[in-house]
Amino acid sequence: MILFKTVASLQDHLGKLHNRNVKIGFVPTMGALHQGHLALIKECKRKCDIIICSIFINPTQFNDKKDFEKYPVTIENDIYLLETNKTDILFLPSVDEVYTEGLEQLQNFNLGYLENILEGKYRPGHFQGVCNVVYRLLNVVRPGIIFLGRKDYQQYLVLKKMMQEFFPGIYIEAVNIKREKNGLAMSSRNMRLSDDAKNKAAAINKNLKFIQQHILTKDFNWLKQIATENLLANGFEKIDYIELCDAETLLPVDAVSNKQLIVLIAAFIEGVRLIDNLLL
Ligand code: AMP
Repeated sequence: MILFKTVASLQDHLGKLHNRNVKIGFVPTMGALHQGHLALIKECKRKCDIIICSIFINPTQFNDKKDFEKYPVTIENDIYLLETNKTDILFLPSVDEVYTEGLEQLQNFNLGYLENILEGKYRPGHFQGVCNVVYRLLNVVRPGIIFLGRKDYQQYLVLKKMMQEFFPGIYIEAVNIKREKNGLAMSSRNMRLSDDAKNKAAAINKNLKFIQQHILTKDFNWLKQIATENLLANGFEKIDYIELCDAETLLPVDAVSNKQLIVLIAAFIEGVRLIDNLLL
């Protein structure tokens, strides 16, 4: 694996690869890598000639400064995992390399209603930050395919919208959620949880499944009420949302139809905000 820390050195190297017409796959991450990230790397390996992973904790997507400061950093282990999973290139830029004009000079993306619902409602500015960093990274890497996890489902749709406008030639591959044995969706944030909370946090997935099992026969608002009570009884201190949405648009629905639906949950346990979803 070759490690690049500057845009110039990476672009110099990539210039040769772009000329040779190899298929470049890109996996952007914020590090603290786990099996969820590695599922993206493995899918990238299957579909591409060259795997590029980036690790960059993007300051502009954190609406909560404390969340940014507490974000786990495990760079040595990350490098080990990437090397053992045959990643070709790791891009590890500094904030100044990515935001050359400073953190205040951000581009504004037209994301429509997607910016203000669900995650956008609870994390103002979050998706503008996500788009700013991915826009910059894509301009440097210019991959054939970008690999994104369905774990961050709204992020995937937001990036799809941004890329339709600015990078229509780059293909997006969405990868399914990797879970712990107990069903907890893998996340770098899980590192901040005690073992007890990790066990209890499996309740998110259990309740997503509970809603899936009963959605054909029961009213969603009733299911939502039961799921809320279950999560609170399992040690969750706050629930931001439990929503049933059209999986293509993320617009809320209150009953099943012939469309693909998705249930999404965001909730806090031990002060850590977890998100998860299930396609129905
Ligand atoms: P992050 O490092 O949290 O920004 O995530 C980097 C990428 O990995 C994003 O596309 C995430 O959706 C994806 N990802 C994170 N956790 C998982 C998971 N448990 N399963 C699948 N993809 C994931």
